[in-house]
Amino acid sequence: MTAEEVKKKSVVKKEKKPPRPEDLAIDVASQEMIVRSREMGVETIFDRAQTMKACNIGAQGTCCKNCSQGPCRLPLPKGGIEGEDTRKGLCGATAQTIAARNFARMVAAGAAAHSDHGRGVAETFLAAARKETKDYKIKDTKKLLQIAPDFGVDITVEGKDGETLMRDMDEIAVEVGEAALAQWGQQQGEVCTVKRAPAPRYELWKKLGVIPRGIDREIVEIMHRTHMGVDQHYENLVEQCSRAAIADGWGGSMIATDLQDVMFGCPYPVKSSANLGVLREDHVNIVIHGHEPLLSEMIVQAAELPELLDLANKKGAKGIQLSGICCTANEILMRHGVPLCGDYLQQELAIVTGAVDAMVVDVQCIMESVANVAQCFHTKIITTNPRARIESGDTIHIEFDEHTAFEDAKKIVRTAIENFTKREKEVIIPDVKQDLVAGFSYEAIEYHLGGTFRGSYYTLNDNIINGRIRGIAGVVG
Ligand code: SF4
Repeated sequence: MTAEEVKKKSVVKKEKKPPRPEDLAIDVASQEMIVRSREMGVETIFDRAQTMKACNIGAQGTCCKNCSQGPCRLPLPKGGIEGEDTRKGLCGATAQTIAARNFARMVAAGAAAHSDHGRGVAETFLAAARKETKDYKIKDTKKLLQIAPDFGVDITVEGKDGETLMRDMDEIAVEVGEAALAQWGQQQGEVCTVKRAPAPRYELWKKLGVIPRGIDREIVEIMHRTHMGVDQHYENLVEQCSRAAIADGWGGSMIATDLQDVMFGCPYPVKSSANLGVLREDHVNIVIHGHEPLLSEMIVQAAELPELLDLANKKGAKGIQLSGICCTANEILMRHGVPLCGDYLQQELAIVTGAVDAMVVDVQCIMESVANVAQCFHTKIITTNPRARIESGDTIHIEFDEHTAFEDAKKIVRTAIENFTKREKEVIIPDVKQDLVAGFSYEAIEYHLGGTFRGSYYTLNDNIINGRIRGIAGVVG
């Protein structure tokens, strides 16, 4: 063996130390659970983030697999982004075209996801308005009357003697539901809620030609334009991104908010708390995770049923503690004060407490790995939406249908209660939670700035304009 080889052999490869929990999360509760997950050998996103190395072509958005001739990979040219760029895919697509197409497909996916949530809400709203389901009701008639004109629905009718009469509320609700649902499949014209934008903004969109015609149409058009050999002009592609994004933000998502408010009531300020410390060791803990309030609203009601509270007591629990993660959490937080268990990054850590008897998930932001983490504990992961199932682990599926919503919710709560007695691992809940006030809906802010009769945004707007209020931060889940 040469001296060089001996030297090489004697160098003991140093194990790379994992980063300190405080370098991974600022939140103390998360740090505590990261330590526990490591001690138990349970892998979480904080571990995966250490080994995941982004592909530098993918990071630039210049890998294309939009047709079967690819994938075409366009690495950065010599001289970097400033140098002469002669990169092309097999079809001749430039780096700009490929990057714009990839971005456009991300916009399409995001708009599709948000707006499909809105479609589900519109379908349930219509079922409630037509009285095809007994579990959902038209609750906030004030908001219904406020939004009806935006959907082209009259709220009054002329009486026999020329007097103005209020139309039947059920009729208005059905027409609003039909008009709302039609926005998805509309082929021409404008998505009706876009007109709510401030006039200068609306005029700018009109001038730029980015007013969406229909919600689904703009998303489908992105998929078409980004296909091989179609739109090969990055600016033109980005223009379509704007159309789809407006269709989502000022269409699908806004309509979802409108109809949810009518069905479940507009949020008003309510006290609650947040972080993993909201879990309770002596309660059945049900964590609701995902995006849609249709299911969680029912679970909130089911968890208050005396028969299910009795069952929880019989199993040795003092009660049922509901909490939420992600947008579903936000929905039940702002309407019912149900505490927030954690954010997106805490979904695995909530299970690591050993206290979660069931994590009920619907759509979006649900890490597939929750099923793996749950396998190390007694936690049941319950998928509920036919669009979003998880293959890994011992996940169970209890399908949620708006026509049998309350019964489905009861079944889910019962499953969680039955699981309470199966806790095996020590329960360690970080003693960390923060008090909060949520529920500042548009309507609530307007009310708080002037009361029932003089509610207005004038005070807020005026103080922003005169500089006394420096700005407003939106915290988006
Ligand atoms: S569309 Fe063009 S760049 Fe993309 S995979 Fe096909 S040939 Fe390659």
